[in-house]
Parts: sequence; C-alpha cells; structure tokens
Amino acid sequence: MPKFALLLAALATFSGSTDAGAAGTLGYGPERLQPVPDSADPLVDAAAVVPGLIVTLAYASSDNFIGRPLYPPDLPCLLRRSVAERLAVAARALALQQLRLIARDCTRPQKIQEQLWKAHPHAGAVADPARGSLHARGVAVDLSLADLSGSPVALPTAFDAFGPAAAAAAPLPESPERAHREALKRAMHDAGFRVNPKEWWHYSRLWGWRWPLAHPERFRPR
Ligand SMILES: [Zn+2]
Repeated sequence: MPKFALLLAALATFSGSTDAGAAGTLGYGPERLQPVPDSADPLVDAAAVVPGLIVTLAYASSDNFIGRPLYPPDLPCLLRRSVAERLAVAARALALQQLRLIARDCTRPQKIQEQLWKAHPHAGAVADPARGSLHARGVAVDLSLADLSGSPVALPTAFDAFGPAAAAAAPLPESPERAHREALKRAMHDAGFRVNPKEWWHYSRLWGWRWPLAHPERFRPR
C-alpha cells in the first residue's frame, strides 16, 4: 500500500476512535472536553502518595513575595488524587537521580488566590481569580528539589521570582542550576505535566481546566 494510503487508513482509525465520544464533547481544546466532577478526583494529602515528598509551603510562612503567611502553618499539600499519583511517578524518576521533590504550593484556596492577585495583578505570574486558577482547581503544583538528605539544591531563581530568569527555558550555562531545572522538567513532562513557560517551578496536569474549583477547606484527613 502506498505510504499516503497507510496514513489515510491510520487517520480513519483514529477518527473512528474519537467518534467513541458520541456525547459530542470530545475534541481538541479545553472548551470541548468533558468537565471532571469534583467527586471523581478528590483532594488527597500528597505527602501520603508521593515518595520522599518534602512539604514547605511558601504561603504558610513569610518566605513569599507577600512577606507574610497566608495559609495555616499546618496546611498539607493537597492535590487531586490523579495529580498526586502522577507526581509520584515523577518523584520515583527523580529518586534515581538522587533528588527529592519539595512542594512549595499545592491546592490554593480561592480567597488566597484573590489576595495574591491583589498584590501582583499580572496574568501569567498570578492567575486572575475571576477565571479560577489551576492551583485553585487542585491540578497545579509548585516545586523545588532537594538531595536525598532533604537539603535544597541549586536552581535558577528563588520560588516566585517574577522575571526573565524564572522562565522555564531561560538561557543558562552548563551548571547545577540548569541540570536540576532540566531534571525536574524531564521527570514532570514524562509524568504528564506541563510547565508554565514563565515559571520553572510551576507544573500543571494536562487539560487542567476540566477540573472544577477545589475545596481545600472541606478536606478531612482519613
Ligand atoms: Zn504555581
């Protein structure tokens, strides 16, 4: 069979399989994908799912761009179950490189999102709360890296440093900073996340807008 005929046959098979979404909602682009019901993918304590995860939430201390704590000091790193499971895949890959994940922000209560927006109303760095951020949906996580003993390793900038050096692909010479940033990116992309091009630390689940706003205030440890 000529090559183009094979291609057409493959395309026919592919479109046949997408027809399985006869509900008419399957397609390309978030607006055509099915919303995920909240109860289908509940929040879990990521530390119980992700091997070696270190939780140092920036907004639970004064170590953030606001300069004061916004979260209760004991807030766990809450993520949708499917997100925590994918993060576990990335953590296992990084452990083989003697690295551990540090969670700097996980599910963000909507009212905190509003405070961040007020302090720094720049789309791309902070999500407009009117749209509901991916952090507020429980599908985004801000990360850093530590060695196996838990000591933070070199990375290009501080967490929440807004500027060109924070870009996920900011040019860097061969260095530990670059090697760590790239190791994180590789492990997270392989596990089904995308990086925010403006922030090397911010990763979200593919198609994250399908998930509704989460309710971390309703979370009860099991
Ligand atoms: Zn983030």
